[in-house]
Parts: sequence; C-alpha cells; structure tokens
Amino acid sequence: MCNSDYTIAGASTTAIHGGLTPDPLTGALVTPLVQSTTFVNEAVGQTKGYAYSRVSNPTVSALEAQLGALEDAPPAVCFVTGLAAETALFLALLKAGDHVVLGDAIYGGTVRLVRQVLSELGIQATFVDSSHAENVRTALRPNTKLIFIESPANPTLKLTDLKAVADIGREAGIHVAVDNTFLTPVIQRPLDIGATVCVYSTTKHIEGHSTAVGGSVVSRDPALLDRVRFIRKCTGGIQAAFQAWLTTRGVKTLPLRLKQHSANALALAKALRANPFVAAVNYPGLEDHPQHALAKRQHLGGLHGGILSFEVVGGTDAAVKVLNSAKLCALVEHLGSVETLLTHPVTMTHADVPVEQRLAVGITDGLIRVSVGIEDIADIVADLEQAIALAHEGWEAPEARAAAKTEEVAA
Ligand code: PLP
Repeated sequence: MCNSDYTIAGASTTAIHGGLTPDPLTGALVTPLVQSTTFVNEAVGQTKGYAYSRVSNPTVSALEAQLGALEDAPPAVCFVTGLAAETALFLALLKAGDHVVLGDAIYGGTVRLVRQVLSELGIQATFVDSSHAENVRTALRPNTKLIFIESPANPTLKLTDLKAVADIGREAGIHVAVDNTFLTPVIQRPLDIGATVCVYSTTKHIEGHSTAVGGSVVSRDPALLDRVRFIRKCTGGIQAAFQAWLTTRGVKTLPLRLKQHSANALALAKALRANPFVAAVNYPGLEDHPQHALAKRQHLGGLHGGILSFEVVGGTDAAVKVLNSAKLCALVEHLGSVETLLTHPVTMTHADVPVEQRLAVGITDGLIRVSVGIEDIADIVADLEQAIALAHEGWEAPEARAAAKTEEVAA
C-alpha cells in the first residue's frame, strides 16, 4: 500500500494495494522486476534479505505479500507452476506410510501426481466423493495426515461443503487443503471457513491473461509456510521473477475480471440450457443446480465463477465437432483467462485419469468444459450456438428436440 497507515477495506482495494509498497529505492509505484539471480553480501553473513533467487527474490516476495493479503494471511509461497506448489505441499505434509484423502473429481494432474509419483514414495491415497462430506470422515485412517479438496470440482463443477470437511479435519487434528484455483479468494475464502491451507494454479484466473505459469500456497499457519518454503528451497521450484511480475499485474484486476467472468458464465449457462442439442449444463450459479443452496452459502458476492461444463447430445463425435467448429472460443488445455477457452476433458486434462474414476464422477465422453472469458457475452453465445448447430447438421429439427426436452424435464 502507498501509506502504511492506511487500513485496506474491500477486495478490489486489497488486490491493487495489499502487501505492496512503492519501491523504497526509487519510489516506483509499480513493483520493480528484479531479474538478478544473485545479491551482494554487505559483509560476511550480512545481506539485505536476499542471497540467491532460487531461495527468494524481491519480485516474487511482492507477489507473495499481495497473495497473502488477499486472504488475510502472511505472505504466500510462490512456485513455478500450480503442480510444483501442490508437490511442495504434499512433501511438506506427507512422508512414506502416511495417507491422504482426496476429492474424486479434482484436476487430472493432481490425480496423476498422487497415483503415479507419491504412491511410489509410499504415500497412500483414497479418493472419495467429497460432495458428501461424510465420505471424507469414513475414509480417514489413523495415518491420515491430509484432506485435499477442490470445490467446484474440475470439470464437473460438483461442490464440496468446505465447512463440513474443515470440521472433520479439525476434529481429526489434520490439515485440510483446498485447491481454490477456480474461484480464487475473491469468490471463496476457504481459510475463513476453516481449511488450513489453500493451493492455487496462479497460471489461471490469478494471472488471468495466459502469459505466466505459476502456483502458490497460502496459509495462516506460519510453521506450515516455513516448511513449504524450505521444501521449495530444497527442490528448486520457486517462480521466476518475470512470471511473478506479470502475475502481480494480473492480481490487480482479479476482482473486476471475476465479476465479468461470473456474469458471462451465468448467461452462457442459461443459453446452453435452452439449446435442444445440449443434454446437461453444470454451473452452480443456475438456480436448479442441485447444490445451488450450498453455492450461495459458500461463494461470495453472489458470484459463481467463470467455469462451466456441458454435455452435448451425440457423445464424443458431436463434442469433437463442436470443439472443432468454434471460431471465437479457443480449444486449449487451460482455463481462467480473459479469452473464452474450450477443453475436452476426456482427451485433454483428464486423459491420464483411469476410465472408471472419470466415469464415476461424471466426466463423460461428450463433456465440454468452458472457461468463459470476458468478451461480449452475445459473441460467446453466438459462437457456441453456431458450433453446436454445425455439429448437429441433418439432425431432428431443434423445435422437435426442444419439445422432447421439455417433456423429459417434466417427467
Ligand atoms: N489445479 C487446478 C484446478 C488446475 O486446473 C490446474 C491446471 O490446470 C492445476 C491445479 C495445475 O496448475 P499448473 O498447470 O499451473 O501446474
């Protein structure tokens, strides 16, 4: 903040000023980009707080202060990617013989890390449908050290009651981590609800412009932060200064962007639901979403984020045609940027998730994930509608399908 006496109030003010100070050397308002790998010792054993950029770097520290401020937490610990942040968190809390309980609809890369890397180190894992919190309790074992949840889940948008899971973790005396990448602290504040640690792919909404990969760990537990920072030093996963600098810019517009992402996503969800060639739309902001009441309780500001998924009539073939026919929306393995982005989870983000696990959680062949951007909503809707129409050329007339759909809903 510009004046250290100023008390920050709202999220937008925090995003712009929180944790940041003008550069004491030059007065630069914007955080300077410090690319130096190394820092001169003033004397033996005497530094200005920095020695080597694998351990810490002033630009990365600025981003860490900013991200911590957004959650009323000490400075975050920033990493080269979201998965590096998750890896450090797991290594900080788990050792051979320990057990972790995870939600069963989480980012595919997290599943791969747990099933194919941590398991080799002797770390046991159980995946449960955490949308029923009691499943988490049932899965606990005497050696369980961590509960790891993602809400909304990727890409099904299923929610987990974070308060209920946090209570279970507290009673068991173990850490509860939430991957809060989809909603960010602007819409969901797991640490306020009782979770002990949040993890982010800052590559997504936090940077928000598809220009910098990164990850962060945020917690109000200083001992945990110290351990995560130590793991980072040992394994070398710190974020690069330039990526951190780009991310500090992104954070400043995060609240503004998420309002527009959320408004656009709700409008698109409604338009898709009315489309006769769309079998189902998953978006917690829809009033008839089965967990809408929980969404209203858990999400802040009446916002529900920019991510939705939908099931197109006609399975994989139709979904592939929709994805290949979109012109404005980009087909990518990414989410949370200003552009509208489409993903086919089965062949992209979740390709490494065992087929039984993905089908059990509703990741079907025809599912399409949309990360709704902040373009004009009419253009996003028009692009997807023309893609869906092209994919169903020669099919039964939309009016007949619409009538059949109304009957199905009524039945
Ligand atoms: N968590 C979620 C919810 C994600 O969607 C992703 C990436 O898509 C990650 C974590 C991993 O982040 P990164 O790609 O920055 O390693």
